Amino acid sequence: MSDNKKTYDTIFDLLEKHDDWMKNTINLIASENVSSPGVRSAIVSDFRDRYAEGWPGERVYAGCKFIDEVEIICMNLAKELYKAEFADVRPISGVVANLMMYSAAMEPGERMMALSIAHGGHISHARANLGGTAGQIRGHKVQNWVFNDEEFNIDVDASLARIRTLQEKGDEIKFLLFGGSVFPFPHPVKEFREIADEFDMTIGYDSAHVSGLIASGRFQDPLREGADMVTLSTHKTLFGPQRGCVLSRNEFAEKIKRAAFPGMMSNHHLNTMAGLAVAFTEIMEFGKEYADQVIKNSKALAQSLYERGFKVIAEHKGFTESHTILVDITETPLQHGNVVEETLEDANIIINRNLLPWDKKRGRDYKTPGGIRLGSSECTRLGFKESEMDAVAEFITRVVMKEDDVKKVAADVSEFKKDYQKVHYAFDTETDAYAHLRFR
Ligand SMILES: *Cc1c(COP(=O)(O)O)cnc(C)c1O
Repeated sequence: MSDNKKTYDTIFDLLEKHDDWMKNTINLIASENVSSPGVRSAIVSDFRDRYAEGWPGERVYAGCKFIDEVEIICMNLAKELYKAEFADVRPISGVVANLMMYSAAMEPGERMMALSIAHGGHISHARANLGGTAGQIRGHKVQNWVFNDEEFNIDVDASLARIRTLQEKGDEIKFLLFGGSVFPFPHPVKEFREIADEFDMTIGYDSAHVSGLIASGRFQDPLREGADMVTLSTHKTLFGPQRGCVLSRNEFAEKIKRAAFPGMMSNHHLNTMAGLAVAFTEIMEFGKEYADQVIKNSKALAQSLYERGFKVIAEHKGFTESHTILVDITETPLQHGNVVEETLEDANIIINRNLLPWDKKRGRDYKTPGGIRLGSSECTRLGFKESEMDAVAEFITRVVMKEDDVKKVAADVSEFKKDYQKVHYAFDTETDAYAHLRFR
């Protein structure tokens, strides 16, 4: 056998090992989900090998007649789900969608407001010295929202005052960005519409994490609350393929379209565009039931952990209104977010370490933060309900609090997971969730 063939086989062995491992794990990564058999089938279609630059009907490539039809369906579904005048489904990720939104809202170098990373902001919102997309790629100067740690939300009065002070100093703000990667409670969008109108600012809302909940009418409705543009990642609570989308009022349509093409993309990954259209049909059919269970499950997980002695953030507010909870693990025997992350992974439980708002003051950084972030989307998709979330809390407690034998917990998690191998809230509920497709 040639070396190349050996490497070829090795790659497939690794893919198969990964798929097998996923069958045996409990995935609590808040930014992930598992795609339906329908979505997976769209992704492996011939669309994966084609180009369709430009807008449906006005392509710069030939061979697009069926691609155009699917893209039009995809756009129409996006507009219907989010009650948006305009949708561009071409961005190939949430970060690209944010770049398109920045391009439509501001000139390079202009100033914006966003959440800091420590308060749940995403790196694509951050300033240049952090390597953030807004700062590094577009030269935007980023000012941070004033955050209320206790309420775990943007402090409206203090943030309004900060904006006025900046305006008076001549540090004009052009763009207000809401949304984040730790997003348990709706952000105060409508409270900022008046000041935005007064100073001619555009309001953006990054719904990456919560786009599946918003599509189902179960979080907030940013376009009705005053946002001019909304960006999506399509694979977090929205259970599509990894991709993005920009929604807006018609007023911004031309600028958004130009940012997509010729600005940001030649190829826009037509197979995952088709997968997104499929996911939209499934969220339309099953979204409300799914989103209700996602939220019940994150609350149940929070409550069960809290009862076992974990410091879950925002207990006085019911912990969360989304799929995400944040847990302070500094007083557990494992003490550090990275240690908890690694140890749980050995126990077949996959989570993220996460900064807490007050970590920096305590000398912690993103490598050894004091928190972990847990999400309920993927578990819910596999049929977990509140009682299963209680079982998950017990597995976590055995590893993090009781320092039980990790191998034993890993075996128990695999055994538990055997009964949850199908994707729910989908048109095909027969195919295994992590089935390895073989074309070799
Ligand atoms: C995940 C995330 C993104 C990036 O999305 P990708 O699709 O991974 O590019 C952008 N913004 C927020 C708030 C996110 O959480």
